[in-house]
Amino acid sequence: MSSAASYKLHIPGPVQVSEKTMQAMTAPMIGHRSNDFVALYQSIQPDLQSLFYTKDPVFLSTSSAWGVMEGSVRNLTHKKVLNCMNGAFSDKWNDVAQRLGKSAGALKFEWGKPVDPEAVRAELSTGAYDTITFIHNETSTGTMSDIAAIMAVVREFPDVLSIVDTVSSFSVVPIKKDELGIDVLLTGSQKALAMPPGLALCSVSQRALDRAKTMPDRGYYFDFLEFLSNHEKGMTPSTPVIPLIYALRSKLDDILAEGVEARYARHRKLNTMVREWGSSKGFELFPEARYGSIALNCFANTREVDLSAANKLLKSKHRLVIDGGYGKLKGKTFRISNMGDETEETITALIGALDDVFGGLLGG
Ligand SMILES: *Cc1c(COP(=O)(O)O)cnc(C)c1O
Repeated sequence: MSSAASYKLHIPGPVQVSEKTMQAMTAPMIGHRSNDFVALYQSIQPDLQSLFYTKDPVFLSTSSAWGVMEGSVRNLTHKKVLNCMNGAFSDKWNDVAQRLGKSAGALKFEWGKPVDPEAVRAELSTGAYDTITFIHNETSTGTMSDIAAIMAVVREFPDVLSIVDTVSSFSVVPIKKDELGIDVLLTGSQKALAMPPGLALCSVSQRALDRAKTMPDRGYYFDFLEFLSNHEKGMTPSTPVIPLIYALRSKLDDILAEGVEARYARHRKLNTMVREWGSSKGFELFPEARYGSIALNCFANTREVDLSAANKLLKSKHRLVIDGGYGKLKGKTFRISNMGDETEETITALIGALDDVFGGLLGG
Protein backbone atom coordinates (compact mmCIF):
# COMPACT_ATOMS: atom_id res chain seq x y z
CA MET A 1 0.00 0.00 0.00
CA SER A 2 1.25 3.51 -0.75
CA SER A 3 2.61 5.60 2.10
CA ALA A 4 -0.23 8.11 1.59
CA ALA A 5 -2.69 5.45 2.72
CA SER A 6 -0.71 3.87 5.51
CA TYR A 7 -2.37 5.75 8.33
CA LYS A 8 -5.87 5.86 9.69
CA LEU A 9 -8.14 8.91 9.57
CA HIS A 10 -9.78 10.12 12.76
CA ILE A 11 -10.45 13.53 11.23
CA PRO A 12 -14.11 14.49 10.81
CA GLY A 13 -14.18 13.64 7.14
CA PRO A 14 -13.19 11.97 5.03
CA VAL A 15 -13.12 9.12 7.51
CA GLN A 16 -11.65 5.65 7.29
CA VAL A 17 -13.23 3.47 4.60
CA SER A 18 -13.52 -0.25 5.31
CA GLU A 19 -11.92 -2.88 3.10
CA LYS A 20 -15.41 -4.26 2.39
CA THR A 21 -16.60 -0.89 1.09
CA MET A 22 -13.46 -0.47 -1.03
CA GLN A 23 -13.95 -3.95 -2.47
CA ALA A 24 -17.59 -3.23 -3.33
CA MET A 25 -16.41 -0.45 -5.64
CA THR A 26 -14.43 -2.85 -7.80
CA ALA A 27 -17.51 -4.59 -9.23
CA PRO A 28 -17.60 -4.57 -13.07
CA MET A 29 -18.91 -1.41 -14.70
CA ILE A 30 -22.48 -1.31 -15.95
CA GLY A 31 -24.28 1.10 -18.25
CA HIS A 32 -26.25 3.75 -16.39
CA ARG A 33 -29.23 3.20 -18.72
CA SER A 34 -29.11 -0.60 -18.37
CA ASN A 35 -31.54 -2.84 -16.53
CA ASP A 36 -28.70 -3.76 -14.19
CA PHE A 37 -28.36 -0.14 -13.13
CA VAL A 38 -32.11 0.24 -12.68
CA ALA A 39 -32.10 -2.85 -10.46
CA LEU A 40 -29.21 -1.44 -8.39
CA TYR A 41 -30.87 1.99 -8.05
CA GLN A 42 -34.24 0.52 -7.15
CA SER A 43 -32.77 -1.89 -4.61
CA ILE A 44 -31.23 1.04 -2.77
CA GLN A 45 -34.33 3.25 -2.59
CA PRO A 46 -36.38 1.46 0.09
CA ASP A 47 -33.37 1.17 2.40
CA LEU A 48 -32.51 4.83 1.92
CA GLN A 49 -36.11 5.87 2.52
CA SER A 50 -36.11 3.97 5.77
CA LEU A 51 -32.83 5.58 6.88
CA PHE A 52 -34.19 9.02 5.94
CA TYR A 53 -37.51 8.15 7.66
CA THR A 54 -39.37 9.34 4.58
CA LYS A 55 -41.82 8.35 1.86
CA ASP A 56 -40.22 10.86 -0.51
CA PRO A 57 -37.65 9.87 -3.12
CA VAL A 58 -33.96 9.98 -2.23
CA PHE A 59 -31.91 11.42 -5.09
CA LEU A 60 -28.28 10.43 -5.74
CA SER A 61 -26.08 13.27 -6.92
CA THR A 62 -22.59 12.77 -8.31
CA SER A 63 -21.03 15.64 -6.42
CA SER A 64 -19.90 16.38 -2.92
CA ALA A 65 -22.51 17.74 -0.51
CA TRP A 66 -21.94 21.30 -1.67
CA GLY A 67 -23.47 20.42 -5.03
CA VAL A 68 -26.87 19.76 -3.50
CA MET A 69 -26.42 22.49 -0.86
CA GLU A 70 -26.06 25.01 -3.67
CA GLY A 71 -28.65 23.23 -5.82
CA SER A 72 -31.29 23.25 -3.07
CA VAL A 73 -31.14 27.02 -2.76
CA ARG A 74 -31.24 27.34 -6.52
CA ASN A 75 -34.32 25.11 -6.73
CA LEU A 76 -36.26 26.61 -3.84
CA THR A 77 -35.41 30.22 -3.00
CA HIS A 78 -37.63 32.65 -4.83
CA LYS A 79 -38.07 35.44 -2.28
CA LYS A 80 -35.27 35.21 0.30
CA VAL A 81 -33.32 32.51 2.14
CA LEU A 82 -32.53 32.67 5.85
CA ASN A 83 -29.13 31.10 6.52
CA CYS A 84 -28.47 30.05 10.11
CA MET A 85 -24.73 30.47 10.65
CA ASN A 86 -22.77 28.95 13.52
CA GLY A 87 -19.58 27.56 11.98
CA ALA A 88 -17.52 27.27 8.82
CA PHE A 89 -19.95 25.23 6.71
CA SER A 90 -23.11 27.14 7.64
CA ASP A 91 -21.31 30.49 7.25
CA LYS A 92 -20.28 29.50 3.75
CA TRP A 93 -23.85 28.60 2.80
CA ASN A 94 -24.78 32.27 3.11
CA ASP A 95 -21.92 33.19 0.80
CA VAL A 96 -22.99 30.50 -1.68
CA ALA A 97 -26.60 31.77 -1.70
CA GLN A 98 -25.36 35.28 -2.50
CA ARG A 99 -23.14 33.97 -5.28
CA LEU A 100 -26.29 32.46 -6.81
CA GLY A 101 -27.74 35.95 -6.86
CA LYS A 102 -30.29 35.08 -4.17
CA SER A 103 -31.53 37.50 -1.58
CA ALA A 104 -30.09 36.07 1.66
CA GLY A 105 -30.46 36.88 5.34
CA ALA A 106 -27.70 35.95 7.79
CA LEU A 107 -28.72 34.71 11.23
CA LYS A 108 -25.38 34.58 13.02
CA PHE A 109 -24.42 32.75 16.18
CA GLU A 110 -21.02 32.56 17.76
CA TRP A 111 -18.98 29.55 16.62
CA GLY A 112 -19.61 26.73 19.09
CA LYS A 113 -23.14 27.89 19.85
CA PRO A 114 -26.11 25.95 18.51
CA VAL A 115 -28.79 27.48 16.28
CA ASP A 116 -31.30 29.15 18.62
CA PRO A 117 -34.92 28.30 17.70
CA GLU A 118 -36.21 31.54 19.28
CA ALA A 119 -33.93 33.60 17.05
CA VAL A 120 -35.19 31.62 14.07
CA ARG A 121 -38.79 32.40 15.03
CA ALA A 122 -38.06 36.12 15.42
CA GLU A 123 -36.44 36.28 11.99
CA LEU A 124 -39.02 34.17 10.14
CA SER A 125 -41.79 36.29 11.72
CA THR A 126 -40.72 39.19 9.53
CA GLY A 127 -42.37 37.34 6.64
CA ALA A 128 -39.39 38.11 4.41
CA TYR A 129 -38.36 34.49 3.82
CA ASP A 130 -39.52 31.52 1.78
CA THR A 131 -36.55 29.23 2.56
CA ILE A 132 -34.31 28.43 5.53
CA THR A 133 -31.00 26.56 5.66
CA PHE A 134 -29.29 25.15 8.70
CA ILE A 135 -26.73 22.52 9.57
CA HIS A 136 -27.73 19.91 12.11
CA ASN A 137 -24.17 19.03 13.11
CA GLU A 138 -21.66 21.84 12.51
CA THR A 139 -18.61 19.70 11.91
CA SER A 140 -16.20 22.64 12.16
CA THR A 141 -17.05 23.21 15.83
CA GLY A 142 -18.49 19.82 16.84
CA THR A 143 -21.83 21.42 17.66
CA MET A 144 -25.13 19.59 17.27
CA SER A 145 -28.18 21.84 17.21
CA ASP A 146 -31.60 20.74 18.45
CA ILE A 147 -33.14 19.80 15.12
CA ALA A 148 -36.57 18.98 16.61
CA ALA A 149 -36.86 22.37 18.32
CA ILE A 150 -35.74 24.24 15.20
CA MET A 151 -38.12 22.32 12.96
CA ALA A 152 -41.01 22.91 15.40
CA VAL A 153 -40.45 26.64 14.86
CA VAL A 154 -40.04 26.30 11.09
CA ARG A 155 -43.36 24.42 10.87
CA GLU A 156 -45.09 27.50 12.29
CA PHE A 157 -44.33 29.15 8.93
CA PRO A 158 -45.96 27.01 6.24
CA ASP A 159 -44.59 29.11 3.37
CA VAL A 160 -40.99 28.56 4.44
CA LEU A 161 -39.23 25.50 2.97
CA SER A 162 -36.45 23.92 5.03
CA ILE A 163 -33.09 22.69 3.73
CA VAL A 164 -31.21 20.71 6.36
CA ASP A 165 -27.59 19.55 6.11
CA THR A 166 -26.90 16.31 7.97
CA VAL A 167 -23.56 15.56 6.32
CA SER A 168 -21.88 14.56 9.58
CA SER A 169 -24.90 13.34 11.56
CA PHE A 170 -26.86 11.19 9.12
CA SER A 171 -27.09 7.62 10.50
CA VAL A 172 -25.25 8.72 13.66
CA VAL A 173 -28.51 9.76 15.30
CA PRO A 174 -32.06 9.25 13.96
CA ILE A 175 -33.27 12.16 11.81
CA LYS A 176 -36.93 11.65 11.00
CA LYS A 177 -37.46 13.68 7.88
CA ASP A 178 -41.20 13.33 7.38
CA GLU A 179 -42.10 13.57 11.06
CA LEU A 180 -39.99 16.73 11.44
CA GLY A 181 -41.38 18.23 8.23
CA ILE A 182 -38.00 18.72 6.58
CA ASP A 183 -38.30 19.62 2.89
CA VAL A 184 -34.76 18.82 1.78
CA LEU A 185 -32.62 16.51 3.89
CA LEU A 186 -29.13 16.10 2.49
CA THR A 187 -25.93 14.26 3.29
CA GLY A 188 -22.64 13.27 1.68
CA SER A 189 -20.72 10.03 1.35
CA GLN A 190 -17.38 10.62 3.09
CA LYS A 191 -18.39 11.48 6.63
CA ALA A 192 -20.98 9.66 8.71
CA LEU A 193 -21.51 7.06 5.97
CA ALA A 194 -17.78 6.24 5.80
CA MET A 195 -17.56 5.97 2.04
CA PRO A 196 -15.10 7.69 -0.27
CA PRO A 197 -16.08 11.25 -1.28
CA GLY A 198 -18.05 12.05 -4.44
CA LEU A 199 -21.68 11.12 -3.80
CA ALA A 200 -24.37 13.28 -2.21
CA LEU A 201 -27.82 12.06 -1.17
CA CYS A 202 -30.89 14.20 -0.76
CA SER A 203 -34.53 13.55 -0.11
CA VAL A 204 -36.96 16.18 -1.36
CA SER A 205 -40.57 16.73 -0.27
CA GLN A 206 -43.54 17.12 -2.61
CA ARG A 207 -43.98 20.77 -1.68
CA ALA A 208 -40.33 21.43 -2.45
CA LEU A 209 -40.82 19.79 -5.85
CA ASP A 210 -43.91 21.96 -6.36
CA ARG A 211 -41.88 25.07 -5.53
CA ALA A 212 -39.14 23.96 -7.93
CA LYS A 213 -41.72 23.83 -10.73
CA THR A 214 -42.27 27.57 -10.30
CA MET A 215 -38.55 28.42 -10.39
CA PRO A 216 -37.31 29.54 -13.80
CA ASP A 217 -33.56 29.24 -13.27
CA ARG A 218 -32.87 25.85 -11.72
CA GLY A 219 -30.00 25.06 -14.06
CA TYR A 220 -29.53 21.46 -15.18
CA TYR A 221 -27.09 19.45 -13.08
CA PHE A 222 -28.87 19.92 -9.75
CA ASP A 223 -32.41 20.43 -11.06
CA PHE A 224 -34.75 18.56 -8.69
CA LEU A 225 -37.25 17.97 -11.50
CA GLU A 226 -34.58 16.28 -13.64
CA PHE A 227 -33.72 14.10 -10.65
CA LEU A 228 -37.40 13.26 -10.18
CA SER A 229 -38.18 12.32 -13.78
CA ASN A 230 -35.10 10.07 -13.91
CA HIS A 231 -35.80 8.65 -10.46
CA GLU A 232 -39.17 7.46 -11.75
CA LYS A 233 -37.26 5.33 -14.27
CA GLY A 234 -34.73 4.12 -11.66
CA MET A 235 -31.99 6.36 -13.02
CA THR A 236 -30.06 9.56 -12.47
CA PRO A 237 -30.04 12.57 -14.86
CA SER A 238 -26.44 12.11 -16.00
CA THR A 239 -23.83 9.35 -15.67
CA PRO A 240 -23.46 8.79 -11.92
CA VAL A 241 -20.45 7.65 -9.95
CA ILE A 242 -21.42 3.98 -10.23
CA PRO A 243 -18.58 2.64 -8.01
CA LEU A 244 -19.85 4.77 -5.14
CA ILE A 245 -23.37 3.49 -5.69
CA TYR A 246 -21.98 -0.05 -5.35
CA ALA A 247 -20.30 1.15 -2.17
CA LEU A 248 -23.59 2.59 -0.95
CA ARG A 249 -25.37 -0.73 -1.57
CA SER A 250 -22.69 -2.44 0.50
CA LYS A 251 -22.88 0.19 3.24
CA LEU A 252 -26.65 -0.10 3.47
CA ASP A 253 -26.24 -3.86 3.88
CA ASP A 254 -23.81 -3.18 6.75
CA ILE A 255 -26.22 -0.77 8.42
CA LEU A 256 -29.16 -3.17 8.09
CA ALA A 257 -27.07 -6.05 9.43
CA GLU A 258 -26.01 -4.05 12.47
CA GLY A 259 -29.49 -2.56 12.96
CA VAL A 260 -30.02 1.21 13.07
CA GLU A 261 -30.72 1.34 16.80
CA ALA A 262 -27.49 -0.54 17.51
CA ARG A 263 -25.69 1.84 15.15
CA TYR A 264 -27.00 4.92 16.98
CA ALA A 265 -26.09 3.37 20.35
CA ARG A 266 -22.60 2.50 19.12
CA HIS A 267 -21.95 6.09 18.02
CA ARG A 268 -23.14 7.43 21.35
CA LYS A 269 -20.96 5.01 23.27
CA LEU A 270 -17.80 5.68 21.24
CA ASN A 271 -18.36 9.42 21.40
CA THR A 272 -18.62 9.23 25.18
CA MET A 273 -15.41 7.18 25.39
CA VAL A 274 -13.46 9.92 23.57
CA ARG A 275 -15.19 12.69 25.50
CA GLU A 276 -14.25 11.02 28.80
CA TRP A 277 -10.66 10.65 27.64
CA GLY A 278 -10.56 14.41 26.91
CA SER A 279 -11.98 15.36 30.26
CA SER A 280 -9.55 13.00 32.04
CA LYS A 281 -6.75 15.05 30.42
CA GLY A 282 -8.36 18.34 31.41
CA PHE A 283 -9.86 19.29 28.05
CA GLU A 284 -13.37 20.67 27.88
CA LEU A 285 -15.52 20.49 24.80
CA PHE A 286 -15.47 23.61 22.63
CA PRO A 287 -19.30 23.79 22.54
CA GLU A 288 -21.45 23.55 25.63
CA ALA A 289 -21.48 19.84 26.55
CA ARG A 290 -25.21 19.34 25.93
CA TYR A 291 -24.73 20.54 22.33
CA GLY A 292 -21.61 18.45 21.83
CA SER A 293 -21.75 16.41 18.66
CA ILE A 294 -22.27 12.65 18.84
CA ALA A 295 -20.25 12.17 15.62
CA LEU A 296 -17.05 13.81 16.79
CA ASN A 297 -15.62 15.65 19.77
CA CYS A 298 -14.26 19.15 19.31
CA PHE A 299 -12.11 19.95 22.35
CA ALA A 300 -10.89 23.41 23.32
CA ASN A 301 -7.09 23.30 23.41
CA THR A 302 -7.02 24.97 26.84
CA ARG A 303 -3.81 23.17 27.80
CA GLU A 304 -2.13 24.61 24.72
CA VAL A 305 -0.75 21.40 23.38
CA ASP A 306 1.35 21.80 20.23
CA LEU A 307 -1.22 20.15 17.96
CA SER A 308 0.97 19.91 14.91
CA ALA A 309 3.63 18.13 16.99
CA ALA A 310 0.90 15.86 18.38
CA ASN A 311 -0.34 14.97 14.92
CA LYS A 312 3.18 14.35 13.65
CA LEU A 313 3.76 11.87 16.45
CA LEU A 314 0.36 10.26 16.09
CA LYS A 315 1.07 9.75 12.43
CA SER A 316 4.67 8.52 12.63
CA LYS A 317 4.35 6.43 15.76
CA HIS A 318 0.72 5.28 15.76
CA ARG A 319 -0.24 5.67 12.10
CA LEU A 320 -3.32 7.76 12.68
CA VAL A 321 -4.33 11.39 12.39
CA ILE A 322 -6.75 13.67 14.19
CA ASP A 323 -7.70 17.22 13.23
CA GLY A 324 -5.91 20.27 14.61
CA GLY A 325 -8.83 22.71 14.30
CA TYR A 326 -10.83 24.09 11.38
CA GLY A 327 -10.24 27.51 9.85
CA LYS A 328 -10.08 30.20 12.49
CA LEU A 329 -10.07 27.51 15.20
CA LYS A 330 -6.80 25.97 13.99
CA GLY A 331 -4.53 25.35 16.96
CA LYS A 332 -7.30 26.48 19.34
CA THR A 333 -9.33 23.30 19.13
CA PHE A 334 -8.79 19.72 18.06
CA ARG A 335 -11.36 17.36 16.64
CA ILE A 336 -11.60 13.59 16.83
CA SER A 337 -14.12 11.72 14.73
CA ASN A 338 -15.98 8.62 15.84
CA MET A 339 -18.07 8.41 12.67
CA GLY A 340 -18.52 5.42 10.43
CA ASP A 341 -17.27 1.94 11.24
CA GLU A 342 -15.40 2.58 14.50
CA THR A 343 -15.76 0.03 17.28
CA GLU A 344 -14.97 -0.10 20.98
CA GLU A 345 -11.77 -1.85 20.02
CA THR A 346 -10.61 0.78 17.52
CA ILE A 347 -11.54 3.65 19.83
CA THR A 348 -9.71 1.97 22.71
CA ALA A 349 -6.65 1.75 20.47
CA LEU A 350 -7.07 5.41 19.51
CA ILE A 351 -7.28 6.41 23.17
CA GLY A 352 -4.11 4.45 23.91
CA ALA A 353 -2.30 6.38 21.18
CA LEU A 354 -3.71 9.71 22.37
CA ASP A 355 -2.63 8.91 25.93
CA ASP A 356 0.87 8.17 24.75
CA VAL A 357 1.28 11.29 22.60
CA PHE A 358 -0.64 13.82 24.69
CA GLY A 359 0.85 12.38 27.88
CA GLY A 360 4.32 13.05 26.50
CA LEU A 361 3.51 16.57 25.28
CA LEU A 362 1.75 17.49 28.53
CA GLY A 363 4.75 16.22 30.44
CA GLY A 364 2.94 13.50 32.31
C1 LIG B 1 -17.96 18.35 5.11
C2 LIG B 1 -19.23 19.10 5.26
C3 LIG B 1 -19.82 19.77 4.19
C4 LIG B 1 -19.18 19.89 2.84
O1 LIG B 1 -19.04 18.70 2.25
P1 LIG B 1 -18.29 18.54 0.84
O2 LIG B 1 -18.28 17.09 0.73
O3 LIG B 1 -16.91 19.14 0.98
O4 LIG B 1 -19.10 19.24 -0.17
C5 LIG B 1 -21.01 20.38 4.40
N1 LIG B 1 -21.61 20.37 5.58
C6 LIG B 1 -21.08 19.77 6.65
C7 LIG B 1 -21.80 19.79 7.96
C8 LIG B 1 -19.87 19.10 6.51
O5 LIG B 1 -19.34 18.48 7.58
